[in-house]
Amino acid sequence: MRRTAALLLLLLDMITSRARAQALDWTAINDEALHTLADYIKVNTTDPPGNELDAARFLKKILDKEGIEATIYDTTAIGANRANLYARLKGNGSKKAVALVSHMDVVPVAPAFWSVDPFAGVVKDGYIWGRGSLDMKGQAIVQLMAMIAIKRSGVPLNRDIVFIGNADEEFGGEGAVQFVKSHADLLKDVEFLMTEGGENLVVDGKLKYYGVGVSEKQTFWQKVVVTGVPSHGSRPTKQNPVPRLVVALARIARYETPLHVLPDVQKFLHDIAPQYKGEQRAWLADVRSAVKIPRARKWLTDNIYWNAILRNTISLTMLQGSNKTNVIPAEASAQMDIRLLSDTDPAEFLATLKRIANDTAVHWVNQIEPKTKLQSPIDTDLFRAIEKASHERNPNVIVTTPMFTAASDRPTYRALGIITYGFDPFLVENEEMHSGMHGNNERLAVSNVGFGVKYLYDVLRYVQ
Ligand SMILES: [Zn+2]
Repeated sequence: MRRTAALLLLLLDMITSRARAQALDWTAINDEALHTLADYIKVNTTDPPGNELDAARFLKKILDKEGIEATIYDTTAIGANRANLYARLKGNGSKKAVALVSHMDVVPVAPAFWSVDPFAGVVKDGYIWGRGSLDMKGQAIVQLMAMIAIKRSGVPLNRDIVFIGNADEEFGGEGAVQFVKSHADLLKDVEFLMTEGGENLVVDGKLKYYGVGVSEKQTFWQKVVVTGVPSHGSRPTKQNPVPRLVVALARIARYETPLHVLPDVQKFLHDIAPQYKGEQRAWLADVRSAVKIPRARKWLTDNIYWNAILRNTISLTMLQGSNKTNVIPAEASAQMDIRLLSDTDPAEFLATLKRIANDTAVHWVNQIEPKTKLQSPIDTDLFRAIEKASHERNPNVIVTTPMFTAASDRPTYRALGIITYGFDPFLVENEEMHSGMHGNNERLAVSNVGFGVKYLYDVLRYVQ
């Protein structure tokens, strides 16, 4: 009897949840998403100064209208007219929450190089144009609309869906840092988080892979300084700091960091191997063995992206000596952009660099505190949900794990133990992505807006 009653209850639950699930008008939702994105682009959040409070109010107004509780936080902690936004769509709580995170700020523009007003939200020629359309107001509106679509559809939720808008990602990342510091309690039940840092690769109109970012490099910028005694350039001295610095820099420049294959890099190169032929295919399929073969090593590292995901990298970028030809300066300095693999210990790497430079007169000054190491597991319900939604769209396209070589807010959240993925909801031609992001004439195909909302909506349903 008891079993019959349980079955009846289950049946009843299935019927009611189906009745609750509303059919969605996707054409109307896509249109709404496009207009919302156009309006969001008009909220100028160029950072500095940011003014993300305006963006937070814009998003909160939409969430309020949908009956999704939203709160604006940190209105004083990050600076004037700055803020973070937090909202939560409640589920039944039987599983842990999934968070959608975006940054509300954008990088500055050089309007003279744009063919449209970068803050007008212009829609023309099949594109929506404007600063942030790619990075990352487009994705923010996809997140917002996917969550709203879930709410409107009445899909039963086992996991709450959390929506966060952060300030200051493009400048110092203070928004996310402040949010995690002050409101960790709001995130204690969050298991998964999705934000920027994934990349679906499209070349010549062909989708090569769906890319989920599970790790990123640690930014470890260093300044090196040598001090000397200033004097007239006509009489060379041993106390000139410039040649001394140059010798140390030459040693650093010649230094080849070891190749080291992380699990997501191994998976990524293995996944793309079938796109190559002959020995190259074999090298990619087993990259741990390939890095021991000189010819394979050269081929792999000639690709600047693969080189950057296979090792710690050092780019010497800034040099400062005297500001006058005939003056020996009191100080010479250089700066280097160092990016470490997620399992490298920064202190150990610095010790190696000091040993290579081999001069105690060279002083090393840390320019940026390394964030928490980011390496999220691949074998998860969220990864499988992304795979399912991706394969429904393109059954023969792989879902893989290209590493992000730059920095995002993800490590800040990963520090709380949250599994964080870089997720890209769009199919943007590679060239367009790289010229538009932080560049001029940033734009997103109108078709991508609708594609993104439905894609993320499916991922959110499948991870339940
Ligand atoms: Zn961004």
